[in-house]
Amino acid sequence: MSNDETKKEEDGIKSIADALKAGGALLNVACPICNYPLIKVDEKIYCKICNQEVYIYRDESELPKEYKQALKQKPKISSEETEVEKTIKGKIEDLRKKLEKAVDPDEIGKLSEAIGKLNQTLKRMKEE
Ligand SMILES: [Zn+2]
Repeated sequence: MSNDETKKEEDGIKSIADALKAGGALLNVACPICNYPLIKVDEKIYCKICNQEVYIYRDESELPKEYKQALKQKPKISSEETEVEKTIKGKIEDLRKKLEKAVDPDEIGKLSEAIGKLNQTLKRMKEE
């Protein structure tokens, strides 16, 4: 690695810290180019190391033509999907807590069924 690249990386890491302080969110998606975590600021996603905006799409067909070339290395997870997953996991946890306290057989049946369905949904989302 040249000194220039090391410098660029150091600046990038500093920019990540600054962006987080300014209210940006660290995503669990890595930049396809440099592999550092991406930052979400005001609904836009940036790589502070590469110093550019990064586009994440669920589907290649959603991508503007000029970006299709670069897509090959793009992460497939969208931040939106992660939010949905988080919500479902939260619901499963809520239901699990209710199930723990439930004594009525009908209620236990309904809760188990609901948890099972949510788990299936989660599994399907991960397989996509
Ligand atoms: Zn990058």
